[in-house]
Amino acid sequence: MANSSIYKILITGGAGFIGSNLCEYFIHKGHQVVCLDNFATGHRHNLNAIINHPNFQLIEGDIRNLADCKHAVEGADYVLHQAALGSVPRSINDPITTNDVNVSGFLNMLVASRDAKVKRFVYAASSSTYGDSEALPKEEEKIGKPLSPYAITKYVNELYADIFNKTYGLETIGLRYFNVFGRKQDPNGAYAAVIPKFVVQLMHHESPIINGDGNYSRDFTYIDNIIQINELAMFTQNQDAVNTVYNAAFGDRTTLNDLIFYLKESLTELDAAIAQIPTIHGPNRAGDIPHSLASIVKAQNLLDYQPKYSIQDGLKEAVKWYWSHLK
Ligand code: NAD
Repeated sequence: MANSSIYKILITGGAGFIGSNLCEYFIHKGHQVVCLDNFATGHRHNLNAIINHPNFQLIEGDIRNLADCKHAVEGADYVLHQAALGSVPRSINDPITTNDVNVSGFLNMLVASRDAKVKRFVYAASSSTYGDSEALPKEEEKIGKPLSPYAITKYVNELYADIFNKTYGLETIGLRYFNVFGRKQDPNGAYAAVIPKFVVQLMHHESPIINGDGNYSRDFTYIDNIIQINELAMFTQNQDAVNTVYNAAFGDRTTLNDLIFYLKESLTELDAAIAQIPTIHGPNRAGDIPHSLASIVKAQNLLDYQPKYSIQDGLKEAVKWYWSHLK
């Protein structure tokens, strides 16, 4: 990356999985980082490595509160907006809270960022915006109808970002994350993502439960690829590359059955008994699409995005991390 200046970056949701990885990365690059988080799903321990760093500031606050957003964004050059309530099932169980955080909170952050005159607002969008479109690979301009309240909120984010650019001139870039995984992703709770949940279950000799026959597939994306695309989106000088959305993915798909196979392969090197653990199959889950695969051509062409970690390389790293931190 050619940009060697030092900036102040606000990372909302910075105590969460993706946000805390971004905080650490940009602190180590020498930037000043402010984290705004209410710890709804994030954890203080995710920030252990940087909490006492002189360039790091933690603000405990809620994006549903405009004053908290304004306070956090004061003096920031860039915003990486990650705070949201993730999970399709959570949004089905409680659409009102998901909407408050993901839509009203997002709008607060846009208003605060506009008023603070930040250079750019880069935000976590989602592959769920492709909804019921069956086209593969997913290309940014061809979306279907949302399949869950969560997907609606993430699509509304894109619409608001576009209007804030057109109406107020705020530069924005949305990154449609595809099933991100890696160190610090939470394995616990009813809404945990599959990879950390499966790794920890296997580590503890419990059977992982797959929703459906295991032939559904996803474009699982390692966290370091996501860090790379955030950095590129934040600093790109190419004006044709801003005020739009990108798929943030590796660009390959893996079935859940293959995922279990790869995880067992890595884990068996650490504990041979894991090879024998059977997988259980349950019913399909509401709101799940059968297959997801990103085209990353747009990000390659406009942002020069070159994801370094394939799913298998990323899984090896993730397994090592869970083994050394949670075994
Ligand atoms: P996460 O739950 O680990 O992180 C979200 C963070 O936001 C948490 O630290 C949480 O405490 C914080 N937060 C929630 N509500 C808040 C509020 N009202 N005010 C302030 N902070 C609040 O989830 P993640 O996987 O790191 O996801 C980060 C972003 O990426 C989210 O916007 C999510 O929708 C999006 N995303 C993630 C994935 C994925 O595969 N992980 C896929 C698509 C999109």
